[in-house]
Amino acid sequence: MEQVQAAAELGSWEMPGELRMLEETVRRFMRQEVAPLEDRLEHDAYALPPADLARLQAKARELGLWCVQSPEAYGGAGLNLLGQCIVAEESAKCRMGAYIPACGAFGFDPPSIIFGGTPEQIRKYAVPAIERGEKAFFAISEPGGGSDPARAIQTRAERVGDHYVLNGTKIWITAASESRWGVAFARTGPGRDGVTAFIINMDRPGVSTKVIPVIRAYAPYELHFNDYKVPLEDVLGEVGKGFALVDRLLVHGRVPYAAGTLGIAQAALEIAIDWARQRSTFGALLADRQAVQWMIADSEIELRAARLLVYQAAWKADRGQDIKVDASIAKVCATETAGRVVDRCIQILGGMGVACEMPLERWYRELRIKRIGEGPSEVQRMVVARHLLGNRSK
Ligand SMILES: Cc1cc2nc3c(=O)[nH]c(=O)nc-3n(C[C@H](O)[C@H](O)[C@H](O)COP(=O)(O)OP(=O)(O)OC[C@H]3O[C@@H](n4cnc5c(N)ncnc54)[C@H](O)[C@@H]3O)c2cc1C
Repeated sequence: MEQVQAAAELGSWEMPGELRMLEETVRRFMRQEVAPLEDRLEHDAYALPPADLARLQAKARELGLWCVQSPEAYGGAGLNLLGQCIVAEESAKCRMGAYIPACGAFGFDPPSIIFGGTPEQIRKYAVPAIERGEKAFFAISEPGGGSDPARAIQTRAERVGDHYVLNGTKIWITAASESRWGVAFARTGPGRDGVTAFIINMDRPGVSTKVIPVIRAYAPYELHFNDYKVPLEDVLGEVGKGFALVDRLLVHGRVPYAAGTLGIAQAALEIAIDWARQRSTFGALLADRQAVQWMIADSEIELRAARLLVYQAAWKADRGQDIKVDASIAKVCATETAGRVVDRCIQILGGMGVACEMPLERWYRELRIKRIGEGPSEVQRMVVARHLLGNRSK
């Protein structure tokens, strides 16, 4: 993108006009449409009432904010990564935070790996999900580990005639029980080149889910395969090439994921600033206390730095550059910064910081997950260190 040339000279970074408009559109939508509805819900609710959601989704479609990560050819908005980051950041500035952009008002992008499938697979699975606004899951993690799936995947897929038979368990799978279909990785042979991606149609027998309660109300699921049959036409990509299909997508996915955490932290900081301006202790406003000023200043400084890393990673990806290391740096910096900022904001609000009446305690819990999901901080640091030091362990 030519207009983002300025990002190369970070000192003179300026958001291009079309992205400023996108940011403003999402911001207005969140303030005018989503916030008033959320205010009426129970503090830990994770879904808007169906009628309200349908009304908001119709508006989002009109605004061109539908499934922003999915290609236009299949009914999505087809935003580039920078655009996706803007939407992720702005749409996370609400009580429900970042786990589903705009609480589902912008639809639910199917796992982007599906667009690496055949035209028939895309037509049969992705297009109807986008059209109807339905969720689809992505299942790679297993009880044996999620950080290192190439070694940890034990779910087996055995070829029997014109189908594969899957047996095994996936864990922590978001939306598994709310989806008609999803993509799961299973072992068809030894090693990294022995893992294959399969489309899982939940209408077929042999698959079941079980909720896993976690730190937030929106819980993931276990996904069990018991002699679950996948027809050959639902093998996604080449047999044994599951990771080849997904590696780049996982890297790119970390960038809007990181941007969403910055939206939460920015919203928290705005609440803390308002609070500090109004609340007095020992005869002076909190805003006049250096201890509070520094918490606010440090938060702003760290947020600005993290945002530049996130936007720069997205900008590079949009220019076709390899961002494996940039995405890891951005993910660690943004998720850890956001966690620190919300923690400070809670401190500034005192008791009200942890009250369920305010969104801060909910954001604090959600952000705790963000340092683990999409690859834990330590694994991202490992990627950066390996790039600098070379891969030293075999
Ligand atoms: C709410 C939620 C939703 C999720 N949704 C999905 C989903 O939809 N689909 C899906 O497939 N997965 C999902 N996950 C799983 C998530 O991706 C994994 O939890 C994550 O990758 C870590 O895997 P693990 O939990 O098995 O931890 P492990 O891999 O066992 O790692 C445990 C800890 O060990 C440390 N560690 C690991 N490797 C290293 C290293 N090389 N160096 C130093 N320290 C290390 C880290 O601190 C890490 O947190 C979700 C998880 C949660 C909590």
